[in-house]
Amino acid sequence: MRSSTKAHLVCMPVPAQGHINSMLNFAKVLHSKGFFITFVNTEFVHRRFLKNPESLASLDGLPDFRFASIPDGISPSNDSDEHKQDIPNFVLAIKNNCPAPFLKLLSAMNDPNSGVPPVNCVISDSFASFTLDATTKLGIPNVFYCACSVCGFMDFYYCKVLMAKGIIPLKSEDDLTNGYLDTVIDCIPGMTEVRMRDLTSFIRTTNRDDILLNHIIDETHASHRATAMIFNSFSELESPLLNACSSMLPPVFDIGPMCLLSQWIPNDSSITSLDRLNLWKEDLGCVEWLDEKEPGSVLYVNFGSMVNLTSGQLLEFAWGLANSGCAFLWAIRPDLVVGDTALLPQEFSEMAKGRSFITSWCPQQRVLSHAAVGGFLTHCGWNSTTESICAGVPMICWPFFADQQINCRYICSVWDIGMEINEDVKREEVARLIEELMRGEKGKEMKKKAMEWKEKAFEAAKPGGGSWINLERIIKEIITKE
Ligand code: UDP
Repeated sequence: MRSSTKAHLVCMPVPAQGHINSMLNFAKVLHSKGFFITFVNTEFVHRRFLKNPESLASLDGLPDFRFASIPDGISPSNDSDEHKQDIPNFVLAIKNNCPAPFLKLLSAMNDPNSGVPPVNCVISDSFASFTLDATTKLGIPNVFYCACSVCGFMDFYYCKVLMAKGIIPLKSEDDLTNGYLDTVIDCIPGMTEVRMRDLTSFIRTTNRDDILLNHIIDETHASHRATAMIFNSFSELESPLLNACSSMLPPVFDIGPMCLLSQWIPNDSSITSLDRLNLWKEDLGCVEWLDEKEPGSVLYVNFGSMVNLTSGQLLEFAWGLANSGCAFLWAIRPDLVVGDTALLPQEFSEMAKGRSFITSWCPQQRVLSHAAVGGFLTHCGWNSTTESICAGVPMICWPFFADQQINCRYICSVWDIGMEINEDVKREEVARLIEELMRGEKGKEMKKKAMEWKEKAFEAAKPGGGSWINLERIIKEIITKE
């Protein structure tokens, strides 16, 4: 017996914290629009959510919003909070192990005895193209949701062209230091002039068969097989790039920033009780600490869920923060530092005493929108970037990998709301940029600009704004089209 007559959407994020947060926000918006939702995690993240009491509570779901999981072949030995994530192997595991279980799950849900409505449409992370074979076989529309920036997507997509032109991969390791990375790249439509060093870190290889480089090329090109393409961005922010995408991909809809759109879900909707899914336990003590601080006085430091620092880099950041004299809130994940525990010297703790709060995982959106936070030292992950924009907080950028380099370029040189730290991070530069951001003239200008972008983001994501109109259009024209 079917339990509901609502149209049924299956959401399949990439099993990584940022992708899951973004897709979960979108799924909640879709639920509030009257859809029955099945949110699918792979077993690796599902097992970790089961271990975290806050996340576990969410996994019970709601009557018309349920969770499911599929095997991914990732060994439980990877599950611990401290374990360094082996991203190339995760990517291969998911690509190889998920297609068959996903087909099985969809087929089971389409059985009239499944207890759930038949599946109308799959909303697939655009980096989880393994869903395409199943949807093609069952004749179900597959809408791709891109959780990264449009500039990031175009950067990845055009790696294929750069490869064909012989620009990448690098000829030798020397290209990393001999100025080759300063080569200007002007062949990406809609993209303001960029250097190779602004493109994805995955091009910094001499190996044509590099797993991550080939993965981003394959995944972005798989978008041609999608029914439509959604970006977590908004027109004013990335208009030339969105136009370029529209001219080459299936129908394109910008419906971001998703973190803001999801705030318009009516308060009386049961879905608001569905908390976020966190891989690490959240520390609310940092919000109480912020409550005691002056407006705009605290620098928030967080490198997201996947960055790995060497212990040397950790120390440069630590001394930069201590020497800046500024108050700071720093989230150090248990697996942030490679091959070592994140031990900070006693002298650092003494120097930063009274003006620092160190935690492991915090409610980032609450932190960024707290009045005490005046700046964000970030790795430029797309969720962190959009959350910072939506809170009107200017940034200090230290991109690590994937789309973070190009996001950094846009943050600093196109949107004018950030300053970049050299990748070879040094404490003096960290302290100087913090000083400039928190107390300098440049910081004031960036704050003003950040508030303007916040306003534009709000205009796009409010009911009747561009992103809402696009959401309603994609529901009518694609998702529920007969
Ligand atoms: N996040 C959080 N608490 C933390 C660190 C991160 O809630 O202490 C959330 C953050 O709000 C964002 C996501 O985790 O939604 C990180 O995504 P992002 O794209 O910025 O970076 P990634 O982790 O994918 O590198």
